Amino acid sequence: MFYRCINQYYIVNIQIEDWIRQIMSNLTLEEKIGQMIQLEANEKSELLLKKNSIGSILNSEKKALDKFKQINKLSKDNIPILFAVDAIHGHCFIDGGTVFPTPLTIACSWDPKLVENIGKITAKEMRITGYHWTFAPNLDLARDPRWGRVNETFGEDTHLAGELGSAIIKGLQNFEFPVIACPKHFIAYGESIGGRDSVESEVSERKMRTLFLPVFQRAIDAGANSIMTAYQAMDGIPCTINSKLLKDVLNDEMGFEGIVITDYDNLSRLHTEQYVVDNLYEASIKGFKAGNHVMMATEKFIDHMIKAVEEKRVSINDIDETVKKILRLKIKLNLFDNKIDESFESDVYQLGGFEHRELARKASEESIVLLKNNNDILPLKTRDIKLSVIGPNSVDRVAQLGDWAIRNNYGKKNFEMGSDHNNTYVSVLDGIKSLFSNTYYNKGCDIDLNELYLDEMITIAEKSDIIIAVIGDNNSFNGEISDRASLSLPGKQIEMLKELKKLGKPIIGILINGRPLILNWLDENLDAIIECFNPGLEGGNAIANVISGEVNPSGKLSISFPRHEGQLPIYYNQIPGWHGNSDGTGDYIDITHKPLYQFGFGLSYNDYEYSDLIIKNNKIKKKENLEIQISVKNKGKYNGKEIIQVYYNDIYSSVTTTKIQLVEFRKILLKPNEKKIVKFSIPANRFSLIDKNNERKIEEGEFEIMIGKSSDKMDLLKDIFSIID
Ligand code: BGC
Repeated sequence: MFYRCINQYYIVNIQIEDWIRQIMSNLTLEEKIGQMIQLEANEKSELLLKKNSIGSILNSEKKALDKFKQINKLSKDNIPILFAVDAIHGHCFIDGGTVFPTPLTIACSWDPKLVENIGKITAKEMRITGYHWTFAPNLDLARDPRWGRVNETFGEDTHLAGELGSAIIKGLQNFEFPVIACPKHFIAYGESIGGRDSVESEVSERKMRTLFLPVFQRAIDAGANSIMTAYQAMDGIPCTINSKLLKDVLNDEMGFEGIVITDYDNLSRLHTEQYVVDNLYEASIKGFKAGNHVMMATEKFIDHMIKAVEEKRVSINDIDETVKKILRLKIKLNLFDNKIDESFESDVYQLGGFEHRELARKASEESIVLLKNNNDILPLKTRDIKLSVIGPNSVDRVAQLGDWAIRNNYGKKNFEMGSDHNNTYVSVLDGIKSLFSNTYYNKGCDIDLNELYLDEMITIAEKSDIIIAVIGDNNSFNGEISDRASLSLPGKQIEMLKELKKLGKPIIGILINGRPLILNWLDENLDAIIECFNPGLEGGNAIANVISGEVNPSGKLSISFPRHEGQLPIYYNQIPGWHGNSDGTGDYIDITHKPLYQFGFGLSYNDYEYSDLIIKNNKIKKKENLEIQISVKNKGKYNGKEIIQVYYNDIYSSVTTTKIQLVEFRKILLKPNEKKIVKFSIPANRFSLIDKNNERKIEEGEFEIMIGKSSDKMDLLKDIFSIID
């Protein structure tokens, strides 16, 4: 397989530069600029392709790809086209592609290796179907659940997102079936005011450097070959035309040398939504000069750039350098050799193959979070038990697969391409039925239509010993331009649950949803609650395995759940200072400040006991590592996995800092009664801060280290260490 590797590029670096110069010498200005645009494959872009070269095509069906390749072959230069796709949680838009759990879901596994493997399979499915570039991972932080895109992220925390983001990039850009990863959206896009997609975000430079840049630094260190800019503005400057951000910070400071791509027709937004330029000509110049190399979905960029060169607003040299960068990437992927793509595509029979599905099921199992389990009702004690599966998400394909998986229905993605995955997904109902033969079903209510099917539902529920309520939201409540002010369970679902509760039978709630919802009533009234977010096409099997006890749940929340929207923001690592409250927290007059379920929370069918926190070197120098260990014992009767979380608090610092920040974690397997000593070696620079001059510093002084099972201080053992000169 080595002949297909990205690595070849380095071997013949010098000849490649000559080769690029030769290609460039044959290109007209129009053709060069053509390399810098990315369009969907349609009649218009077909005409353009015949006239110019088009550098890249996005989100188009395989047959369009093949057609465009053929047309391109007849072109003067036949520069290969980079085919891009939003493969956000698997190669989901393709018929037969494997749909993994969404990123917010998979983040609950806290398992970088698993995430890397998902990256590998996604890349493989992309290459065997002809695609080279995915707009993933989404490395925005989900600190406001009103924002519609939280499901695309790895959750609310910098460290967790950095670990998982770099893992998936390694997987995607692997050596066997390599594709280009595209971490996005640079930067602080999730921080838009009010959770409203793409409006200005209020982020100081210190906050940006503390929370958001480190995640992208991890992506760059992992070798990300491209980065997408964010739609929104910060401090009055849209990210896409912020040259300080893209050149001084991203290139010079962070060392990023890859391709920068705008978001979808972002250049036009500068004019039509953000009003920072009064025409697209100026937007094109600004976008190019700021450091973007590929312009997504702005076809007119070609004409405007030609004019800009003619009017000497843009130098031909700068255009040449950009085109060379793009060509280098194409060479790195071996696209000039037709046989390479063909050799990948000969493996197309592996699309959605058995191993891929196995990984999807495992990913889903590892990501399921048990939020409540009164009187150990779960796992169910016998397979003969009579179950009624009730609720709108019992058989809702779109809700289960999640945003970015489905074509043109209430999944809302407006692309021509796409799959419905009708034949490949296992619903919650089917999964449960396959293990529990005495299972009855009723939909109970609709999420969208406000309908409650009371009589039929009660008749079915009455037949059972236990009710499994499968509830949540669906894709009309999530995704781009789908921000919510209310986080309640939509439709008549609470009413439905109240009716079921009247029957006096135990109720287990299974949640399929794209973002945290307000679950107070469920927490008070249901016997067990399982949070599955969007578990992907094997979700039904994974859920059944958890209910039956085949799998002991081990997921921990990647995002906090509020009790009330008025508490937002509710992320765990808040800065202290509430007036009159010395421990850094404080309640509202009318409600606690605490979330219902905090970041890092998740139960198991076992209890785990933490003890003997030992700091080996409680005075460390700035270049040293902190060495600590903890004992964890499985006090339950099942095999189980526990995610050990390490947090810290810089007790006194020159600037305000959070009193609790995740710095390390590890997932371990424990047999019943087994006790393990787990060691961590944490470099001192992980305890650094951004100071008042916006510089990263390790400050001397005392720090608190906290280890345990969630971000709630009650769940954590603590000790003190110092950093000295
Ligand atoms: C989104 C990007 C996405 C692009 C292409 C944009 O609207 O913000 O995340 O990659 O569309 O589909």
